[in-house]
Amino acid sequence: MTSQITMALAGNPNAGKTTLFNQLTGARQHVGNYPGITVDHKEGRLEHKGRKIAITDLPGTYSMTAYSAEELVARDYLVNEKPQVVVNIVDASNLERNLYLTCQFLELGVPIVIALNMMDVANDRGMEIKAEKLAQLLDIPVVPIVARSGKGVDELMSAALQVADERRVFSSRDIPYGDDIDETITAIIQKIEEAQFLTHTYPARYTAIKYLENDEQFIQIGREASRTVAMDIEQLVERVSEHTQKTLDVYPEAIIADHRYGYIKSIVRQGVVTHKFDSDRLYTSDKIDKVLTNRLLGPLFMFAVIFGLYQFTFSWSELPVSWLEEGFGWLGGVVESTLPEGLLKSMIISGVIDGVGGVLGFVPLIMFMFFGIAILEDSGYLARVAFMMDRIFRIFGLHGSSVMPFIVSGGIAGGCAVPGVMATRTLRSPKERMATLLTVPFMNCGAKLPVLALLIGAFFSDNQAQYMFLFTMLAWVVALLAAKLLRSTVLRGAPTPFVMELPPYRFPTLRGLLIHTWERTWQYIKKAGTVILGISILLWALMTFPGMDQHDLASFENTRENIVAAYPAEVAAELEQSETELSEAAQKLQNKLLEIDNLEAEATLKNSFAGRIGTSLESVSSIAGFDWRTNIALVGGFAAKEVIVSTLGTAYSMGEVDVEESTSLGERLQRDSGWNKVVAVAALVFIMFYAPCFVTVVCIAKESSWKWATFSMVFNTVFAFTMAVIVFQVGTMLHLG
Ligand code: GDP
Ligand code: MG
Repeated sequence: MTSQITMALAGNPNAGKTTLFNQLTGARQHVGNYPGITVDHKEGRLEHKGRKIAITDLPGTYSMTAYSAEELVARDYLVNEKPQVVVNIVDASNLERNLYLTCQFLELGVPIVIALNMMDVANDRGMEIKAEKLAQLLDIPVVPIVARSGKGVDELMSAALQVADERRVFSSRDIPYGDDIDETITAIIQKIEEAQFLTHTYPARYTAIKYLENDEQFIQIGREASRTVAMDIEQLVERVSEHTQKTLDVYPEAIIADHRYGYIKSIVRQGVVTHKFDSDRLYTSDKIDKVLTNRLLGPLFMFAVIFGLYQFTFSWSELPVSWLEEGFGWLGGVVESTLPEGLLKSMIISGVIDGVGGVLGFVPLIMFMFFGIAILEDSGYLARVAFMMDRIFRIFGLHGSSVMPFIVSGGIAGGCAVPGVMATRTLRSPKERMATLLTVPFMNCGAKLPVLALLIGAFFSDNQAQYMFLFTMLAWVVALLAAKLLRSTVLRGAPTPFVMELPPYRFPTLRGLLIHTWERTWQYIKKAGTVILGISILLWALMTFPGMDQHDLASFENTRENIVAAYPAEVAAELEQSETELSEAAQKLQNKLLEIDNLEAEATLKNSFAGRIGTSLESVSSIAGFDWRTNIALVGGFAAKEVIVSTLGTAYSMGEVDVEESTSLGERLQRDSGWNKVVAVAALVFIMFYAPCFVTVVCIAKESSWKWATFSMVFNTVFAFTMAVIVFQVGTMLHLG
């Protein structure tokens, strides 16, 4: 008898692993469905019949392929740590789908006991499940339990201890995969056994099947172990793969999946499951799905839900957002009146408060949006949305689960790519996830909206709503086409099957919702506190230094003095005292001085580093119709798109521009000879599609790598510039301006 038994919990997501884990170990922890939260396995300890057991909660997976990080973690753990017993939790109310994973455990040859969970649910649905029959057919112990109440858990532990003690060797189960595949399996096994290829870690048959499933990790491991054997096996696989494609038009992995399901069906239909009610009686979830995933009503309902989400988000966050704005405004005012004029003051106000405030101001909005999304996710509706959109997204090399990241990023205008990028974690295939991650920044996020509003308002004021709709559609079309482009070049690879389960509808718990909301909001806040702070100080410096030379400064000062001198002394004195009710003359003087201030700001900007960058870019940017002023704004937009409108304001000597009241800047652009409709569209296209803002880039790097983050900056900018040039050149040629 070993002193401590090692045990692993494994099963599909939502099968009840965490619930059982908590039952067993008493550990208090979060039970939730947020994918990615349990990528690291959890450890716990318990005693049963005086025996010590160390137990590990593996991430939930639907299969054991290399589609996702969770699957790799689970697989590597079983192979490398070799737990003495694996408790496979199976959702009894969803038996066939859950046994798919069981089949793969059996092929891997791990010592296993099945915990047939959710017996209460199965019972409520009128299913009768014969555990002994299942145990007999699979030839492994099966213990029915209700993890939530703890029923059957003692028996489960006894059965598990017995498996561990007996050191039962589980021969790999020979599921038949059809003549073509079976012949190749035999041939591969022969090669493996001759060369002792990977046999110390994996059963030969398992290796053969993984190769036939085109498992990337296995192909890698194989090549490292022995190049020659690996090549031989890959050739065998290639041959049968060509054959099945020719004869059946499918890859071997699809045939394997089909046969596994067939095998499971044949077991389950041998009297394991019987329905107490008549078989066509629909369960509540299925009944709801009849309507909610209906071909016609489904999409309609989906649009209504998404629209409702936006309504909810914007109307509920309006008030807190305005509080925050007022708060930051107040803070700015305090600094304005306490600090002496100078660089420090300018940096704190323009760099720190405006920059960080601009981002933190979005927090309530993001919080409400995430809360709404958490409701959709926890209730099970999000899975239906993914299911419905999968067919369309598949055409572009994406997955149904890409929908939410797109919507969060501004798919209906007004989201944010940062949470959008984070939301791609629900995607299980690394390539589909990368393609989604790289294209979500194309959506019209909340920071791009003021620019859209400004330019559409200035140049297409007759059809604002239509143009807004047009640019939203354009974002989608471009994002999907770019995804297609990526998926057929740098991210080429087969689509993953839609294996996401439609979980039964559940009432979300408030605690779960709050935890989900908080986790994501906090990530956003952390970004604002660190990255954004750095960027906005840098940007402030770029736009402030090296400042104007003494000569120019003096000439502005001179002009001011001349203007003041042209007015009677009382008028100037009245301005000095900053009376609230100014006389007409004083007002005139004030306006003239303001004009000089603005001209000075413009000149300072032109002479700043940012201004010099803008000017030197002019030779290239002019083929897309952008002059140096636009360039500065666009360079600023690399840091944060919020900056674009305010920088344009300074560059066109409009002084500080309030984002909500950008009409005067619009009029200014309308009158400017450098701007017309064609330039406006070219600028919009560029702004919509060029490099994501820096926070998004950092996020992309965190979620993938700096290589991809850099790629997204370069790719998007080149792509956007090309589009802008085409728009400008063609538009100018056709005299559309
Ligand atoms: P995991 O994803 O495998 O960790 O699954 P969880 O432990 O998070 O369980 C998913 C959901 O199923 C939770 O809402 C649990 O409360 C619920 N659940 C787990 N076991 C049972 C059970 O035996 N009966 C019922 N009715 N619900 C259960
Ligand atoms: Mg869990």
